Amino acid sequence: MFRILFRLYLVTIVSFSAAIYLVPDLVIKVFHERFVTYNLDYSRGLQTLMVKQFHAVPPEQWPALAEEMDKEFQPLHIVLTRNDDADFTLYERERLQRGENIVRIGDWGWRTLAVAPLNQQTVVKMVVPPDPLDVNLLYWSINVLIGATMLACLLLWLRPHWRDLERLRGTAERFGKGHLDERTQISPSSNIGSLANVFDTMAGDIEKLLNQQRDLLNAVSHELRTPLTRLDFGLALALSDDLPAASRERLQGLVAHIRELDELVLELLSYSRLQNPAKLPEQVEVSLDEFIDSILGSVDEELESPDIVIDVLLHGQLERFSLDPRLTARALQNLLRNAMRYCEKRIQIGVQVCANGCEIWVDDDGIGIPDDERERIFEPFYRLDRSRDRATGGFGLGLAISRRALEAQGGTLTVESSPLGGARFRLWLPVSDQ
Ligand code: ADP
Repeated sequence: MFRILFRLYLVTIVSFSAAIYLVPDLVIKVFHERFVTYNLDYSRGLQTLMVKQFHAVPPEQWPALAEEMDKEFQPLHIVLTRNDDADFTLYERERLQRGENIVRIGDWGWRTLAVAPLNQQTVVKMVVPPDPLDVNLLYWSINVLIGATMLACLLLWLRPHWRDLERLRGTAERFGKGHLDERTQISPSSNIGSLANVFDTMAGDIEKLLNQQRDLLNAVSHELRTPLTRLDFGLALALSDDLPAASRERLQGLVAHIRELDELVLELLSYSRLQNPAKLPEQVEVSLDEFIDSILGSVDEELESPDIVIDVLLHGQLERFSLDPRLTARALQNLLRNAMRYCEKRIQIGVQVCANGCEIWVDDDGIGIPDDERERIFEPFYRLDRSRDRATGGFGLGLAISRRALEAQGGTLTVESSPLGGARFRLWLPVSDQ
């Protein structure tokens, strides 16, 4: 908030100061004649009185009288001089020679000089000196006080705006993280009320659309499972008959396709279930090393080559940690299966618990993931099109499911390059606040 306040204040104070200093100057320049006549009228009385005083004594005593008046008129200066003094402008000299008074106008329209002719050559000058330091300081303190008052007013004005903007930002952030029921709750009377209203309407529409899409996905996946099971069953029956080798082979190919389809449907169901915001994740305290061990055990059989080495590095003291075992195991299994498919011969799992969460990373020494694809691989059905990727099969749902499984617990899943040369998937789970 302070940055925006500072900028707003800077713009206001700079334009205010510029206006204060430039506008009077401009107006005085444009209406100079009017100001001069006004000031001449204004000082006419005083000048006439002074001239009368001088004319009351012989000219030889004028210097003494000027000195005496100078003392009496302090801080003004009363000075005698000639009407052709080099200090005067041509215009001023002409006026004085014609026997007319002159005044000179300085900043803010203040008189700085008033001159009245006493005879053909001599004139009496009344010089207005600049303000003394303390009065100048007082003027400045008035400006500072005006500036401070403006700052206070801006702060008062900005506070409710800032609060509403922060609320809008927070809502957008939580909405983006999948809390689709988040709304701003900003009053319509707020200055950003209409913007908040548009946001809330948009959030409602998106929530409705996503829910429809999820329900559709769920329904289609469920509906697909029954005919798939029937097909699988029918094919198993057909295979139990005595069949020529070629037909048996064809049927077995069909069974493989059906199993693959069944797997896809199961993945789709998991993905759509994870999109269900109503289902809160469980919180179970587990011992992390045992948990990692059990996950390794569950994917062990899928290891294609016995040469692949899997290391587990436990950093620091591993306390027990609260997490949703089903969701976390699902994410880790996916990461491990990928690492097994893409590694050359090494996989490393690292675990570290710190004050605010737990970090688990899965490294491999495989082909890695190009920089510009590191976000896209988490999108459903997104697969890279390298020859190695084509050979591994899969639907491109594994990482999307893993990320959702962690986000459902408030965690994150990111990818970077691994010190082993391949990819490093970094999983982060915050300490639960329950
Ligand atoms: P799939 O089930 O098709 O592997 P995933 O969502 O698990 O789908 O992965 C998406 C894509 O990310 C994969 O097609 C692959 O190109 C890439 N990928 C995932 N893990 C790795 C890895 N450890 N090394 C290299 N590429 C990977």
